[in-house]
Amino acid sequence: MPGVAEAAAQLRAGGVVAFPTETVYGLGADAFNERAVARVFELKGRPRFDPLIVHVAETADVETVASAFPAEARRLAEAFWPGPLTLVLPKREAVPDLVTAGLGTVGVRRPGHETAQALIAAAQTPIAAPSANRFGRISPTTAQHVRAEFGDAVGVLDGGPCATGVESTVVSLTGEPVVLRLGGVAVEAIEAVLGRAVAVARPKQGGDEAEEGRASPGMLERHYAPGTRLVMVEDAAGLDPAGLGARVGLLALDAEPGGGWAAVEDLGGADDLAGAAARLFAAMRRLDEAGLDAIVAVRVPDRGLGRAINDRLRRASL
Ligand code: AMP
Ligand code: MG
Repeated sequence: MPGVAEAAAQLRAGGVVAFPTETVYGLGADAFNERAVARVFELKGRPRFDPLIVHVAETADVETVASAFPAEARRLAEAFWPGPLTLVLPKREAVPDLVTAGLGTVGVRRPGHETAQALIAAAQTPIAAPSANRFGRISPTTAQHVRAEFGDAVGVLDGGPCATGVESTVVSLTGEPVVLRLGGVAVEAIEAVLGRAVAVARPKQGGDEAEEGRASPGMLERHYAPGTRLVMVEDAAGLDPAGLGARVGLLALDAEPGGGWAAVEDLGGADDLAGAAARLFAAMRRLDEAGLDAIVAVRVPDRGLGRAINDRLRRASL
């Protein structure tokens, strides 16, 4: 397992390294090294129409990849960086098209995790990094999850379990602010800082995935999926697990063992949706590994980080 200095040296030499952030573990490469970035796409099996987020050590480094940093973007950066917020801004020419999937924009984030900050600073270059999982699978929130995805193919910097546990909120600021992806910063918090309502882009229903991806990258409907069939319900009370198979698991707030469930993952109470988000992906992985016929996931309240949780559950159920 590499340390920060060794991992930074690997990145500088054009290598790919997995590292912790407060959202999920990332699979990083020097954002200005097209071959290294290509290796990230190859390792993940990620379609090239899905752009990578570029991670910077300091807010001032935004200017190395973005050609503009508008006032509202600065306000959000001041309020939420370092943290789980990605700003989509006009891109600089120097950023390879592969990173941005040919878009005229770049997604930039200054992560809050100390190890991520130390790594990016030591690498002395912005780091392009998607989540360190194979495309379409559950994002990793521990170093062990990354090893389960890639084995010895990539070195993993171990920074413990991710505190936020869902991916960053992505906000486009190339025009009117629009939330492109729900994530670790609540929409309500963004609206409070900007002092106005902010639209949330909806992933398109149906249609050709490649087309969809180009129009609205990363907003593919089918995503974040366990291998086991996942059924999303409003309420599990009165639901007979036997109706879905011999061994059925439950994923819910305040979930209790018994009731005919073969496995139960409790996400905690409704008063701590941030805690539930932090527990979500690890719980999904454990259920996926429990040899179940199906997983029943119960919708959480649609506020704060609950919106990101419901978004991931819904996509996992498709
Ligand atoms: P991840 O898979 O967690 O690395 O997240 C990357 C996601 O960030 C993509 O799938 C997009 O949804 C979003 N993203 C990154 N860069 C851009 C961009 N330039 N324009 C729009 N969305 C972006
Ligand atoms: Mg991902």
